[in-house]
Amino acid sequence: MSRFFRLTELEPYVPGEQPADMERLIKLNTNENPYPPSPEAVAAVTAEELEKLRLYPELAAAGLRDAVADVCGVTPEQVCVCNSSDEVLAFIFHGLCPNGAVFADLTYGFYPVFCRMFGVAGREIPLREDLTLNVADYRGEKGTVFIANPNAPTGLFLPLEKVRALLEQDRNRLVVVDEAYVDFGGESAVSLLPDYDNLLITRTFSKSYSLAGGRLGFAVGSRELIGDMNTLKFSFNPYNVNRITMLMGEKAMRDRAYFLSCRDRIIEAREWTKTQLRGLGFTVTDSLANFLFASSPDVGGAEYQKALRERGILIRHFSVPRIENWCRITVGTMPQMRELVKATEEILKGV
Ligand SMILES: *Cc1c(COP(=O)(O)O)cnc(C)c1O
Repeated sequence: MSRFFRLTELEPYVPGEQPADMERLIKLNTNENPYPPSPEAVAAVTAEELEKLRLYPELAAAGLRDAVADVCGVTPEQVCVCNSSDEVLAFIFHGLCPNGAVFADLTYGFYPVFCRMFGVAGREIPLREDLTLNVADYRGEKGTVFIANPNAPTGLFLPLEKVRALLEQDRNRLVVVDEAYVDFGGESAVSLLPDYDNLLITRTFSKSYSLAGGRLGFAVGSRELIGDMNTLKFSFNPYNVNRITMLMGEKAMRDRAYFLSCRDRIIEAREWTKTQLRGLGFTVTDSLANFLFASSPDVGGAEYQKALRERGILIRHFSVPRIENWCRITVGTMPQMRELVKATEEILKGV
């Protein structure tokens, strides 16, 4: 650390490994989509569009916001597009946590990082023993509530009636629902927006639209909340979404057939893998995300991750209390998942 650094308390988020020798590895460690982006999105990136990179992106992002609004069933004024949902979350932590932030002890690891980054008091509320979230634990909490739904790394989905109960607890408390994984079987809280102006939803193109490398996310909420999001965005980086990503995001969002076919294949592979791992003695949560959360009585979490790595398969293990014996496994293609199950059988035979 240099003597000039001001934020000495910062502890950055640690992303999953992004190895250089990708080709030889089965990468199931960062919840990326195993399928390429929509062919229509790829085809939109013409030489002509690339030459337009000399120009700044369109400020209003009208085409992209229209596409998002159509799919979500809201108006474009209820949508703010950003450079990833991490950026959306950063803006919310920075500007929309007047009384601090509240979130589960086991959830997206970026929330506590953003608290330090922006000097927001963060409070962690433990999930129950079975890793489910108890809404009653949030009663009386004043800070902005952050719920990843489905949650990461557990994959568990909090039913919308419970989200509604959270919103009802205090209409003057903002509830942020991080729906990074909602397309894989959950139900979006967008349907609650007409009833609650204390609800803000964040989404990403990184997982279900196969655009993790494009960096694109968005917030959906009341016109007033989205107005605040735009104030934050235009006070930081009005051109936060680059031209190419904006174009690809619009095409990917409009290509419903491709989106659904990729999504269905991932759900099918998830359910198959879950059954296989349970057959091998693993405890596996009923994840509604594009990953599984699993633990074995026969092999420790860190040990399992290491043994798979030696066989060229990357998964994620968190050295975090309560889940040390668990691993998070991204759902890839069926051939990849067959390899995972085969390697797991070998590992279990060896212990
Ligand atoms: C992946 C993820 C994000 C971040 O998505 P980006 O748009 O790639 O920044 C946000 N929240 C959760 C819970 C995630 O798992």
